[in-house]
Order: sequence, then C-alpha cells, then structure tokens
Amino acid sequence: MTTETVRDTGANPVVRRVSDWDADRLAALADEHGTPLYVQDLDRTRQNCERLLSAFPDADVRYAVKAHTGRAVLETVREAGLDAECASAGEVDRALAAGFGGDRLHYTAVNPPARDLDYVVDVVEREPAITVTAGAVDTLDRLAERGYDGRLCLRVNPGVGAGHHAKVTTGSAPKFGVPYDRAASVAREAAERFDVVGVHAHAGSGIDPDQLDSHRELVARMGDLARELIGAEPDGNDEPDPLDLEYVDVGGGFGVPYREDAEPLDLDAVAEATRDAVGDLSGLALAIEPGRYVVADAGVLVTRVNTVKPTPEGTVVGVDAGMTDLLRPAMYDAYHPIRNLGGAVDEPDPADREPEPVTVAGPICETGDSFGTDRALARPARGDLLAVGVAGAYGYEMANQYNSRPRPAEVALADGKATVVRRRERLVDLTTVEREATGAEVADR
Ligand SMILES: *Cc1c(COP(=O)(O)O)cnc(C)c1O
Repeated sequence: MTTETVRDTGANPVVRRVSDWDADRLAALADEHGTPLYVQDLDRTRQNCERLLSAFPDADVRYAVKAHTGRAVLETVREAGLDAECASAGEVDRALAAGFGGDRLHYTAVNPPARDLDYVVDVVEREPAITVTAGAVDTLDRLAERGYDGRLCLRVNPGVGAGHHAKVTTGSAPKFGVPYDRAASVAREAAERFDVVGVHAHAGSGIDPDQLDSHRELVARMGDLARELIGAEPDGNDEPDPLDLEYVDVGGGFGVPYREDAEPLDLDAVAEATRDAVGDLSGLALAIEPGRYVVADAGVLVTRVNTVKPTPEGTVVGVDAGMTDLLRPAMYDAYHPIRNLGGAVDEPDPADREPEPVTVAGPICETGDSFGTDRALARPARGDLLAVGVAGAYGYEMANQYNSRPRPAEVALADGKATVVRRRERLVDLTTVEREATGAEVADR
C-alpha cells in the first residue's frame, strides 16, 4: 500500500497529533481539574467514526469498547452509528446502559467466567438480538448448558497475526478462536444448537502500512471459510447443508501513528485490500471491529512536572502521572509522543526553549514506570505541564491503583464545552471494597 494517497481532508484530518492540541486549553483544564488528567475529545472521536464509515460504507462497523468504555465515548460512538463489540459482562452492561440495543451489541467470550455467561444469557432473554461470539467448543457447550440457543458467531483462529507487540498479536495465539481447519465442522455442529450468523477472526492490534499482507491473508481465509459454509462454491456430491450466515467479521487492529513521524493508516487502501481479499461474499456483510482507531488520537494525558534531576545518564523529568494512569509504555514498550505545554513559573514559552533529551518518569516504584527515554522536549522545568499524546485508547481503560494511587480524572470535550466525566479518585476510594468487606472505618480523605 502506498501512503502518498493519505491526504489531509481538512474538516476531518486523518490524524490528530499531540502538537495539534490547543496548549492553552489543556493548561486551563489542568489548572481547573488538577493533574494527572485525561482529556478525551468527543468531536474527534466522532470524526474517527465518520472516517471509518466512509471508508467501509457497506460494512458493519463495531466499536471494540475495551479501548475506552467511558459513558460519553460510548454514547458518541452509538450516535455516530457504530455497533458495540464487548469482551465481558461488564462491557455488555455498560454498552446497554449507554443505549446500544441488542441488535447493535456483540459479545465476544474468551474463556468466559461463569458469571459473565450467566449474565449474558440472562440479558439475552430481554435482548434476543445480541450476538455471542465464541471461540472454543467448551464455550459452546457452556452456553448450551445454560439454555442458550440464540445468535452465535464462531471465532476462528486464522493462523496469521499482526500486531505491534507480541502481547497484542492474537491471530496466531491458540488462546483465541477454534483452529482454522476445524472451523467449518465446528460451525456446522454449532448450527444444530444455535442460530449461527457469522464467522469472526481478530488478528491482534496494530495493522499498519507494513502489515497489510497478514491482514489480507486473514481476510482471504475468512472469505473462503464463509463461502464454504454458505455453500457458495458447491463442488458436487455430499455437500453439507449450507449455513444461513449474515456476516464475516475480520476484526479490528487498525493502527494509529504513535510516533510523530509515522504515517497514518490509509483507511481507503485498507478497505480496498479488505474487499479484494475477502472476495465475493454472495450477499454476506463484511464486519470490522476497530477499537484503538476510534479513540486513540482523541485523547491526551496531561501531567505536571514535579522534579527535574540531572544525572550522569541524563536528565530525568519526574511527573505526577505514572504507569498506573497509562500502562502501555510499561506493558508493551509502547511509544507515546510527549509535548511540553509549559506553565513553569518564570520560564519562557516552550517554543523559546532549547530542546533537551530527557527521560520522563512517574511516581511508581518500578523501573518500568517511564513514559520514554531520550525524548527531545523543550527544556522541562518544575511546574510545566506535559501532554502525553495518543492516549485515548487503552489509557484510562488500563488505569489501576497499584502503589495505592487513585485513578485520574477525565474531562470530555464536545462542541467547545468541557465536562468532567470521571471524577478524580480520592484516597478513600482506595479502600472502598476493603471497608465494605470488613466494616472498617476510614477517615474520609
Ligand atoms: C481488542 C479487540 C478488538 C479491537 O482491537 P484494536 O486494536 O483496538 O482495534 C477487536 N476485536 C476483538 C475481538 C478484540 O478483542
């Protein structure tokens, strides 16, 4: 694929870089709401949905909600016209609460805890249009044991995978989906117990311009499987009964450019490659499940510099956000762009400071608690605000309370207005479940 065709479309640019954010606005929000602070722009989230829908006009586009399950984001995505792809009972619950009807809700069960299956089977009584995607015969048996006979999609392990890190490459991981060569027979057997409506594969995250080949391969295999199942290419005798499938779901994994100099994905080229590779689907719909792509560049994490320490190995800039707020660098060695927004007393505007290579590190007692080394930032000073970019996907979502750190606040921007959509956790929130279990009294801090 070529990247020359990626053009800035003006009203809806293909990417928003950390440098595109309004520094004064972010600084005002940080002053008002404190740091660390997630800022999620719902208008940008909507634009990302619109670009996906226009690149894949005939496809079912399902937002993989695990990238960001904030209520405001879910409502934005629903209004933009995407369905919801959920990975747990909790996600199904939140998608329903955000107004997704069962016909727009897909639940993908991966080694599902009994509690999740109980919940979903119960919900399907009220919302029979929900589709359950299962990737193991055991899961099918467990659904049947609960009396489930509704809409079912079979998750297949296509044997090819993409991904920016081994931990997010699922296509070839045996954990996900039934093996490709058993998929047709499992699907046919499943059709005796369920309403089998689709086949599904998700290769992992990080489809980027260099990895389109493995995407193509996955898509082609899924097209072949679907044609086999619907009996589109009968080859003569003893054909099994065709299945009445509705769709082929080729998963998510649409990459976003984390590095400032990385090219954005050419969605039209991906769409074309996908259509080519899947082949003639004889009326079946194509479905995709982008998560990251919808929310990543719509979010930043704003953090304040509290320590600037010269060391023989270079300058370490200490900030008040850590791996508990944004886990991706520690977990995946992920790169997030960082920009100095300024704000330190008696310091010039960052544009008037010399860039200096620094390490940006958080407050957690872990060596991995670093947002990057050798980053050329406008010479940071204590009190400056830094914006950690492209943090809208798997950012707040993976935040946790390790080191007894309350989770940050989140502000959503829409139509020029800023709204706190998740309040900052307080120290008292750290002990809620403990106090509820033991009845212990704790001062309200
Ligand atoms: C996580 C996930 C996605 C979305 O992945 P992204 O890289 O965020 O696009 C899609 N489908 C399934 C089944 C997933 O688990």
